[in-house]
Amino acid sequence: MRIVNISSGSDGNITFLQTEKINILIDDGLNATQTIEKLKSLNISPASLNAIIITHEHSDHIKGVDLLSSKYNIPVFAHQQVWVGLDEKLKKVSLKNRKVFCDAFEINDLKINPINLPHDVPCYGFAIENENKKMGIITDLGHFNDRILSSLSGSRIIYIESNYDKDMLYKGTKYPLSLKRRIDGPNGHLSNVDSAEALERLALGGTRQFVLAHLSKENNSPLLAYNTTCKYLQKDGIEEGKDIKIDVATTNIGTIFKIK
Ligand SMILES: [Zn+2]
Ligand SMILES: [Zn+2]
Repeated sequence: MRIVNISSGSDGNITFLQTEKINILIDDGLNATQTIEKLKSLNISPASLNAIIITHEHSDHIKGVDLLSSKYNIPVFAHQQVWVGLDEKLKKVSLKNRKVFCDAFEINDLKINPINLPHDVPCYGFAIENENKKMGIITDLGHFNDRILSSLSGSRIIYIESNYDKDMLYKGTKYPLSLKRRIDGPNGHLSNVDSAEALERLALGGTRQFVLAHLSKENNSPLLAYNTTCKYLQKDGIEEGKDIKIDVATTNIGTIFKIK
């Protein structure tokens, strides 16, 4: 299984996943033209995509879906609860390409386990397996809990949201206080420290490779997210580069991870 971040953050989220048999996207939050351009830079034809799996209805996760699905006849998978909000927003996806799941499901050689995430709309992360190798992706969650931890256990690599720095969020003047509280609330997003705490628990569970994802453009920076997490782990004797590895996903195409 090959995994690569195509884009991550406030502007749009897309993760590409490839097995010997299929190519899929998790979310398509850039517009279709940008998505196609980025895929082509990786030598991936959009026509080769077998599925787009959607986490939730927010625009930074679905911007390109309508056009990509209708133009290339790509099935779009989302949880039943997510479709309630998506239905109106994805008008161009044909009836036969609207795929609904409620529990774990399979697409060719991939086993996909949805993980319900606490966000302000129905939202799912995924634990995805291919040939008994597992990866996890959790973005857009207000808090982490034991249920999410156990769903991700055994993952070789986990993409985890590290959305905002709390000081930057509250000291910045751009957002109204109500929005700051929504972001920081139990159904908003994970702060850098929230993410570090979760990452430590996942690392103690055996995962060695992490990617910090969905960083806010206004209230975070890749270096700040990385440093906050490393410092948090260091106090408990976990060293980045030695015990575990941490990458940061940005709006640029990221490291290509291969799980064999
Ligand atoms: Zn988002
Ligand atoms: Zn969201």
